Amino acid sequence: MSGHEWVGAALVGMGVGQTRRAEHAARTGRHVLPAGTRIEVLEVYCGSCHVRYDARSHAQQCPRAMPRSA
Ligand SMILES: [Zn+2]
Repeated sequence: MSGHEWVGAALVGMGVGQTRRAEHAARTGRHVLPAGTRIEVLEVYCGSCHVRYDARSHAQQCPRAMPRSA
């Protein structure tokens, strides 16, 4: 087993009204941010087992982690 793989759930503004970025994001499920853009992270958790990041969980092994093949 190996460690948790942390992901951050974030909010990214898509503008007001009918915007090109909202249109594109809705259609493709993707949005590219310019480098250096600050985004708001709502929550940090493991992408595999969904445990929340905290002082205890970050040191534990992930029960759902795939063994890394060499
Ligand atoms: Zn995990």
